Amino acid sequence: MTVRDLPPVDELTGQQQRGANCCFCGAPLRNGTAHDLGPRPVDAHGTSALWFPRCCPLCWKDPG
Ligand SMILES: [Zn+2]
Repeated sequence: MTVRDLPPVDELTGQQQRGANCCFCGAPLRNGTAHDLGPRPVDAHGTSALWFPRCCPLCWKDPG
């Protein structure tokens, strides 16, 4: 399963970076309905870190 391209992490809000809000549309997420997109590496000021994007059901698209 693949995921559509994620927006640049540095353009997201703190809530989106934490996975509290949808990383695409910014909608608040509930644990029962959020789709976990898996940890993504991010270059933050020369230190490698991970962020954990999640998205809402409306933004979740199955390819094909
Ligand atoms: Zn969304």
